[in-house]
Amino acid sequence: MEIIIGAHMPITGGLSKSAERARELKFEAFQIFTRNPRGWRYPELKEDDIKNFLNASKGFSSINTHMPYLPNLASSKEEIYKKSVESLIEELRRAKKLQIKYIVVHVGSHLGEGIEKGKERVIKTVKEALDSVPCDCHILLENMAGQKNSVGSRFEDLGEIISGINDKRVGICLDTCHAFAAGYDIATQAGLSKTLDELEKYIGLRKVMLIHLNDSKSGLGSGSDRHERIGKGFIGRKGFENFFKAKELIENKPMIFETPVNDYHEYLEDYKTVMSILKNME
Ligand code: ZN
Ligand code: MN
Ligand code: MN
Repeated sequence: MEIIIGAHMPITGGLSKSAERARELKFEAFQIFTRNPRGWRYPELKEDDIKNFLNASKGFSSINTHMPYLPNLASSKEEIYKKSVESLIEELRRAKKLQIKYIVVHVGSHLGEGIEKGKERVIKTVKEALDSVPCDCHILLENMAGQKNSVGSRFEDLGEIISGINDKRVGICLDTCHAFAAGYDIATQAGLSKTLDELEKYIGLRKVMLIHLNDSKSGLGSGSDRHERIGKGFIGRKGFENFFKAKELIENKPMIFETPVNDYHEYLEDYKTVMSILKNME
């Protein structure tokens, strides 16, 4: 089975460092923030940063950015909505300059306004952003962990949003920790086949363009978004052994670790765990 492994890489010291770090670990893919993920303000990308990044990132099979956390695409509060559209447009511009194809976004929270309103907002926001930036960049909506007021924890909702946007530049980033926390039991055979059926029914497996490979510090259906190192959480080694049987889902798709490491070198342990599981399956 052809698999593509990568991880979220720090950009400390410059954007191009992320690519150098991923290369050092011999990963084929990686994810970055193109700016501070916890703020609204950001500096322009400098020509030198772009040039260095383009040089350093040659040859990877997949690179993606992750949107900052403050924008909320599902909010009907006018001010947050406006700032969120602007932020998404800016991310598309950045991705275009950096020649990065995929942008992962959290669908957001309807803040008590109801899921229907939330979905409408997301559709409007993503359409507006895609219309403003002509490029081949894809927006990947990430399934949420089932937190209170979250939009996009259920495949039904994601499917509706995708049909509402109706643009081939939209897909899904499936986070294994989020899916598990939202109640999709990918750790057991019966749960996985039900999950895959629903994914196919409401969204379509081909729409899943990226996977966030994380274990979960919280239990099945807990509704809480806490990542864990692979094999060390509630999904566990056995659970991932089961998940990797979903060949139709994971083959040739970038799988990105967002596991809680103190230093990016520790991703190699997650990588080893994955490889040893896959080896045992042969
Ligand atoms: Zn995310
Ligand atoms: Mn994720
Ligand atoms: Mn998460």
